[in-house]
Amino acid sequence: MEEAIRKLKELVDGSDNIVFFGGAGVSTESGIPDFRSVDGLYRQKYAYPPETILSHTFYMRHKAEFYDFYRAKMLAPDARPNAAHKKLAEWERAGKLKAVITQNIDGLHQKAGSREVLELHGSVLRNYCEKCGKFYGVEAVAGSTSVPKCICGGDIKPDVVLYEESLDEDVLAKAVHYIRNADMLIIGGTSLVVYPAAGLVRYYRGHKLVVINKGQVGAPLGADLVIDGPIGQVLSQV
Ligand code: NAD
Repeated sequence: MEEAIRKLKELVDGSDNIVFFGGAGVSTESGIPDFRSVDGLYRQKYAYPPETILSHTFYMRHKAEFYDFYRAKMLAPDARPNAAHKKLAEWERAGKLKAVITQNIDGLHQKAGSREVLELHGSVLRNYCEKCGKFYGVEAVAGSTSVPKCICGGDIKPDVVLYEESLDEDVLAKAVHYIRNADMLIIGGTSLVVYPAAGLVRYYRGHKLVVINKGQVGAPLGADLVIDGPIGQVLSQV
């Protein structure tokens, strides 16, 4: 591990065009469970599998049940950025990192101070009325019971990409642009199995591809450096 961290430090020192691509594993050290770890949400038992509950169809048909799960499992109002979020923000301030591209919906990269954050799957911090479009913060959902309602009577929906829904095209295009032009790409804390997000890393054309993940990622990437370990602990040593 020591040798791998030394190599990572060398790569980071030599680059001023780093792009980070991450997922739920980036926030587990902040106390937010991911989906696929041993203690992730997919190993817990619910009436339906999480990917069913978090689908567009389920949301449309069973909103109250969707929100029971969503409030209990997807909101983490007390979570704070960990060493990984903080290090990435520090690299951006230092002019080394160009963008964080995240599948996370928790807002922790921005809380840590990162500015160029592309949220592929939206954010729990933004919500809107399905009828009149009025915007609501996370409190409107966290403090609600059953289905949160707008003052106009419409249902409030999280600005989160549910299964079966498409990703924002502008965000996707920007993500492709950053990855394609990156000198160094760090992929961290993601199983890399949720598409189309996972497919974005294929746009990288450089020779400094680093993977920092607990366990293997979904597809062989031919990475130049692979570090199997907790990303917060790893990045805090760089
Ligand atoms: P995932 O659960 O499929 O995979 C997480 C990966 O990170 C696993 O390989 C796991 O071993 C690894 N990991 C866990 N903790 C780690 C750590 N401390 N350091 C390094 N690696 C660690 O998550 P995913 O790939 O992001 O895809 C699933 C979907 O989960 C995404 O679409 C995302 O929107 C959603 N999600 C987001 C949050 C969040 O916003 N924090 C939480 C749960 C799920």
